[in-house]
Formats: sequence, C-alpha cells, structure tokens
Amino acid sequence: MSIERGQSIVEFAAVRPPQEHYDVAILGGGLAGLTLAIQLKQTRPQTSVVVLEKREGPAPLAAFKVGESTVPSGAHYFTEVVGMKEHLLAEQVRKCGLRYFPTANGNQDITKRVEMGPPIYPPHDNFQLDRGLFENKLAARARSLGVDIQQGARVREIELGGERHRVTFEQFDEETALTARWIVDAAGRASIMKRKLDLATDCGHHINSAWFRLGGGLDFEEWGADDAEWMARMSEPGIRRYSTNHLMGEGYWVWLIQLATGPISIGVCADPRFHPYEEINELDRLLGWLRKHEPQLAASVEQRQEDIEDFLRVRDFAYGVKQAFSTDRWALVGEAAAFADPFYSPGSDFIGYSNTFTTDLVTRDLDGEEIGERAGYYNDLYQRLFEHVMSRYRDSYPVFGNPWVMCGFLTWDFYINHVGAVLLFTQNRLTDFDFMQRADEDMGRVFKLNINMHKLFREWHELERKPRVPEMLATFPVLVSGLVGLVKDYPDDEALLEELRTQVRNAEAMAVAIFNQAAKVLPEPPPADRPINPYAVGLDPEKWEADGLFESPGITIEQARAAIVGLDGLWDSSLALAGGPPPGVGGGPPPGIAGGPPPGVGGPPPGAGGPPPGVAG
Ligand SMILES: Cc1cc2nc3c(=O)[nH]c(=O)nc-3n(C[C@H](O)[C@H](O)[C@H](O)COP(=O)(O)OP(=O)(O)OC[C@H]3O[C@@H](n4cnc5c(N)ncnc54)[C@H](O)[C@@H]3O)c2cc1C
Repeated sequence: MSIERGQSIVEFAAVRPPQEHYDVAILGGGLAGLTLAIQLKQTRPQTSVVVLEKREGPAPLAAFKVGESTVPSGAHYFTEVVGMKEHLLAEQVRKCGLRYFPTANGNQDITKRVEMGPPIYPPHDNFQLDRGLFENKLAARARSLGVDIQQGARVREIELGGERHRVTFEQFDEETALTARWIVDAAGRASIMKRKLDLATDCGHHINSAWFRLGGGLDFEEWGADDAEWMARMSEPGIRRYSTNHLMGEGYWVWLIQLATGPISIGVCADPRFHPYEEINELDRLLGWLRKHEPQLAASVEQRQEDIEDFLRVRDFAYGVKQAFSTDRWALVGEAAAFADPFYSPGSDFIGYSNTFTTDLVTRDLDGEEIGERAGYYNDLYQRLFEHVMSRYRDSYPVFGNPWVMCGFLTWDFYINHVGAVLLFTQNRLTDFDFMQRADEDMGRVFKLNINMHKLFREWHELERKPRVPEMLATFPVLVSGLVGLVKDYPDDEALLEELRTQVRNAEAMAVAIFNQAAKVLPEPPPADRPINPYAVGLDPEKWEADGLFESPGITIEQARAAIVGLDGLWDSSLALAGGPPPGVGGGPPPGIAGGPPPGVGGPPPGAGGPPPGVAG
C-alpha cells in the first residue's frame, strides 16, 4: 500500500467524554504511551485504560518526531509484543542494520572513509519508522482493543492518593478530572511525574542535537557510484540507504534515516566541547556547520533547500531517573523516564523495557498480587541497563574522530548490542523472575565488561589517534554468532542459559583480544602468555596490579586471539578472514554472509531490492 504525503490514513473516533475512573491513566499518547496501552489490553483485556494526549487529530507524516530508527529490542517489542509486524513490514522501511563511516580526509569522499555495516539485510528484522504514520496506526489499534484515547487533553496536575490517584487535565478549554488506580507518565520530555516527584538525575552526558527532514529522500550511495570496488562491497546496489547511516567526526555524528513516506531524516548530535550549540541551533547555521564538517552531505542538501520540511533541535538531551516504578502505583516509561543518546538507537529499546516492566506490575497488582519484590528488581534492572548503555556514550564523542580506535569500539558494541539483555528481551524472559535469577549474574557480567571496555577505548584514544585504510571492516565468526543468537530457537531455559554463558565467554575473550591490540601502543605491552582478567583491562600499567589485571580467572592473549579468530583483521585487513566466517564456527554465519540467504530469511526487503512503499526509486 502506498502512503501519500499529507494523507490522513486513520479514521479518528468521535470524542466521548472520559469515565470518572480507570484502572490505568497514561499521560501522553506518543510511542511509549500508545504501545503501553496496547500491551496492557493484550495482557489483561478487562483492564480499563485511558490515554490523555494533548495533540488533537492525527499526527502528520514524516516531519513530526525523532525516534525513527529501531534496533533488535525495540523492533522485537513493536513486532512481536505490540503486534505491529504486518504494518511494519508492509508500510515502513525494513532496515539494513546500522552503518558507520568514521572521518577521513575532510569528509569530501565517502569511498575514502572506513565503513562498518552489514553487506546484506541482517537476519533479525529492524525498521525505520515514520513516526507520524506509526503513531496513527498504534492509536487505531489501541482504540480497537478498547483503549479510551482522549485527544486535546493536556494534563495539568496529578495528585497521588491512597486507593485512587487523581489527574486533572484541560480539554476543549475546560478543566476536567478523573481518577485511576495506576498513573503512568508517558509524556516524553515533558515528564510530568518526574518534575512533580523530583526524580531527574544528571547522567553526566551533555550533548545537543538538531535535525530536519528532506523531502524526496537522498540516496547517498550515489556519492560513490563511480567506484566499482566500493559498490561491490554490498550484496546489491541501493540498500545502503536503508541502513541507519552515521557520518562521524571528532565530537559529533550525523544520522541519515530514510523514511517510507519519502523524506530522509538528517540530524546532527554534537558535543558542545567541540561544536557549540550556537553552530547548529538554526537551520542556516546547521547548513554552514555541515559545509565545514560534512561537505559531501552539505553539497547534496544545499542544492535542494526547498525540499527541507522542518527544523528541530534539542539542547542537552540526556538524563536519567532516580526511580521508574513504584509500589505506590505509578511508573515512568519512554522518554518520560530517561534518555541516553541515539548513536545506537536505544530509545525504543527502553520503551520496550519500561513498558514490559510496567505491564507486569500493573496487571499483577490488578489481579491482587503483591508486587514489592518485582518493583524493586525492575527498578534495579532498569538502572543497570541504563548505565550499561550510557557508558558507551559518556565522554566518547572525542573518540568518534579516531577511526583507528573506532574499529574496536564499533565492533565491540556491535557484539554487545545483540547479546546479554537484548537476547533475553527478544526471548521474552525479562519478566520471568525465576529465569532472571538464574541469568542475572551472566547478564551482569556483560554489563560490567562493557562499562570497563568503554573506559579502555577512551584511554586508548588518549594514547593513539590515527586513520585506517578505507575498507569495509570484515566480520568474523564470534561477531556473527551474536547476531545469529537472536534468531535461533531455544527449546528450553537450559539452552538459552547456555547461549548466554557462551556470549559471556566470547565477550571476555573479545575484551582481552581488543586489549591486546590497544596495548601495542604501550612501550611495554603485557606478556602474551600471562592470564589477563578481562574485567580489569586498562592502559595504565601502573594500575595493572592494583586493578587486578593479572588476577584469575583470566585468559592469555594467545587464548583470546585463538577464540576470536579474525578480530585482528579490524586493523590489518590481510589478517581478516576471507569471504566471511567459515560455516559452523561460532554458530555459523547468518544466512547470506557467505553465499546468499535462504528464501525468506535475511533476503531483500519486500519488493525484491526495490524501495519501500512511498520512497521514490
Ligand atoms: C536527537 C534524538 C534522536 C533520537 N533518535 C532515536 C532513534 O533513532 N531511535 C529511537 O528509538 N529513539 C530515538 N530517540 C528517542 C525517541 O525520541 C524516543 O524513543 C521516543 O520518541 C520517545 O517516545 P515517548 O512516547 O516516550 O515520547 P513522545 O513521543 O515525545 O510522546 C510524548 C507524548 O506526550 C504528549 N504530552 C506531553 N505533555 C503532555 C501533557 N501535559 N498532557 C498530555 N500529553 C502530553 C506529547 O504530545 C507526546 O505525544 C531520539 C531522541 C533524540 C533526542
């Protein structure tokens, strides 16, 4: 089905006055609020749910909100949990993974930049969302399940009470109130509950962003169309544009996200220590900034300024939350709770996590169950997940200008972004209490390793800054095994726990193997035959003993390199495995890496290589 721009694709129900009382009142009907309403109704159909949304009428297409790129947890949540798979496959862009282009030679020529991204569609489906289109579809689905969506309803006040909380809102110039057993704040950055209860925390990450939508889209692959070798890296021409593409330089990155309805979303995230907000906070300034830092992109945009549909910005976008779920029957979900950084598109993941925890607490409470222990666990897990994700970004923007270190940084995160908690969420286990108690330690190991590895990358950047030959980074078996883990069948808990343990072992070996590469910059690298503790790797030899670098259980550099075959090829392509990983190693290659996907798996998107509906070919 093709979606015409500006076309209203959803019938909106006539406004009925709200009831006096609901089981759940959701403040804000954006991505988090609407999906939560659907999840609640699907889990416990008799639950009465009202969504209070200040906007009136359907959302506009394309030039609406950011939050357009999804990765495995968020995509799983929207397709399998919320049940939007059919819509996503038919009307949104099925994406070709995340793709990164570190800086090179003044960013004049994309073919001279290192490239990290899949040459084919990954086996696990992810999507680019036209947010307006998606929210309209979600609203229609929520209504069909019996959710009461009140539009033009601006929440003014909440009062937390004993059995019933009270919400006061303004609708059609009149003040109205209702009561609810549960209140869930899904009001995004307006964060009504967070302000009231003073729940905001400074997460130590201060980044600004500005963006616009360019009508008609942009196939940036045309920049390199004359370079046969560059074009031949991909399984077919024309699919790079369906990745979430990242152009990177010191202190910044730029996103390029093609939308199904035609426009492309283009935005900059910049660390003000390198790029002051005043350089990007107006459209003409942003275009000037692009001219200086991303001239190839600027040249494409500047010829088409009349196609620019909007311009939006946000200052200092990251924040944390002290508590997201309460036994006093309130919760914060989506951006109303916390937001880290869109570099790996985790926003929708956190919508999935917070909505799933909230649904579990609400439905158990309504069924008369005691929820104290679960609420405590979910608060703790949410904070651990947030810190795990945050650790990739905090003080990492300087490293974005260092292609050499970024080869390790991006590869490490590629693996970590598909394993551990992501695996468990896509297997619907995060609310399986018994299972989580068995998995918690191993999941925590992945968090711990990741946080320490990002400290290593920052230290490495201080010691070594250099370009890398502009090739596409080769994949290797363990990297691929992380991806394949998301689409494997796990017949029982034991099989899933075994996969998690294998992932921890792989991550430990990868940490030591990357440390080996980083430590080459030191005058005296550690000995190759002495066991290294992967949780303590760092580049200050004076701290090695105190940090426990040589404490057991450790693995030697030789063992780590043998376990992570092909990793050295990240920095020296003569050491890369030719033609992708050998079948059967590390779980085997995903369909298509070494030879082409079987029918229906990992193949081209609907339309066999053609553009998604609505995108001009
Ligand atoms: C620069 C940037 C880029 C991003 N890119 C991505 C990305 O690529 N992928 C990703 O997953 N996430 C991304 N995010 C995060 C993304 O924005 C969120 O995941 C998503 O939009 C959050 O949805 P939400 O429902 O929590 O908030 P929103 O979508 O903002 O919804 C909040 C709703 O509450 C309503 N509301 C507000 N106040 C009131 C009130 N007083 N009364 C009633 N209603 C109210 C609003 O009208 C709105 O509809 C990005 C964020 C930023 C800052």
